Amino acid sequence: MEKEYDVIVVGAGPGGSWAAKIAAEIGLNVLLVEQQRSIGYSSNCAEGVGQRHIEEILGPVDKKYVSTEIKGLDVFFPDGTNASVNDRAYILDRPLFERHLATRAMDAGADILMRAKAKGFAKENGKAKLEILHSGEKFSLFANVVIAADGPNSNIGRLAGINVGIDNADWIYCQQYLLYSLELKDLDRAKIYIGNKYTPGGGYVWIFPKGNGLANVGIGMFDADRSIIAGYLDKFVNANFSKYGIMGISAGKIPGASIKAHSADNILLVGDAAREVNPLTGGGIRYAMLSGNFAARTAYNAIKNGDTSAEGLREYEKILWEKTGKEFDKLYKFTKFARALEDEKLNKLGRSLQGIDFSGISSFSFVAKLLYANPWLPFEYATYKIKN
Ligand SMILES: Cc1cc2nc3c(=O)[nH]c(=O)nc-3n(C[C@H](O)[C@H](O)[C@H](O)COP(=O)(O)OP(=O)(O)OC[C@H]3O[C@@H](n4cnc5c(N)ncnc54)[C@H](O)[C@@H]3O)c2cc1C
Repeated sequence: MEKEYDVIVVGAGPGGSWAAKIAAEIGLNVLLVEQQRSIGYSSNCAEGVGQRHIEEILGPVDKKYVSTEIKGLDVFFPDGTNASVNDRAYILDRPLFERHLATRAMDAGADILMRAKAKGFAKENGKAKLEILHSGEKFSLFANVVIAADGPNSNIGRLAGINVGIDNADWIYCQQYLLYSLELKDLDRAKIYIGNKYTPGGGYVWIFPKGNGLANVGIGMFDADRSIIAGYLDKFVNANFSKYGIMGISAGKIPGASIKAHSADNILLVGDAAREVNPLTGGGIRYAMLSGNFAARTAYNAIKNGDTSAEGLREYEKILWEKTGKEFDKLYKFTKFARALEDEKLNKLGRSLQGIDFSGISSFSFVAKLLYANPWLPFEYATYKIKN
């Protein structure tokens, strides 16, 4: 089997399926390859997305792939002070959501190949050549542009010579329980707990309710050993629930820093593979889909112009920098600084946030409000920036 496509998308996560959908919709001949047997069932995720954010991308949301809708988010500081954000959000049913996105790609005209692992990337006669392992059979596929949406462990970007490495200290290592407890029955808001008491060195613990007494209860910590993370999560769960059952355990990692290049000859990186994740929140579903959209449109323009070299794909770098990169850069620097704050200072921040309405604001505006509300903070931050 040696076939040629305009675009081959590697990975049917939110970034890949959305890229395939957009690319097929605008007239490209698209193949989506996914290594798993079943779409969406390998993902580890707290499943939270802002209602406004996801609707901007998808239009009206079909409740079939939503576990529950929540009214907002409460952030708890180490001394118990809490700050509330009253933006509505969805807690998705991630497998159903991913299946929905893949079917949208197919409806738009994309082909899909499951149990197909992309193992090699090379350039041949101006095209990308992908080595595929599909149900024990090896073959090559060709494309003008490969969109690599192969997640945090992205190998395709690496094989194409893109430097996808980030410091170990910038990876957020996560462990999550699907928890059942009567104490979760009426919860209609997400909760986040920050501070060294919960996650020394930065990160946070989350409770994202899924309805019917279920919730994703998880922890994300920087550069930490899996057993240490699990220990902190267990400590939190035991301190906060008198009776509970663990219905599922998952683990994963989130890139907490950006990379410089997201493209090379015949290839564009999308989502976690491109390190397109909000460094403050660790949220990446929205950014995977946004970058998938930009990548599909860039591929279309490059193919139309007959130049799919790194130069022909350069507009992708400009779009990413404008739409997310600039903001991620600032958020990353602030988050890195904030990871080192002691609990007493975090408590001060918590107290300063009382009575402020955060509804509808971006992560960047949130940080700006924080700096404004705490006159000591810009000075400490500036000193930190000079030293680091
Ligand atoms: C514990 C945890 C909780 C999270 N919670 C949230 C949250 O609440 N909200 C949020 O917005 N984000 C959250 N995230 C981040 C979010 O899950 C990711 O940002 C998002 O999944 C990125 O989507 P993606 O399409 O880029 O990659 P992925 O979802 O990782 O999809 C990659 C796909 O590529 C496939 N693949 C990989 N390699 C190959 C290959 N060689 N060949 C073929 N297929 C391949 C994989 O099987 C997978 O299906 C969380 C992450 C973790 C770890």
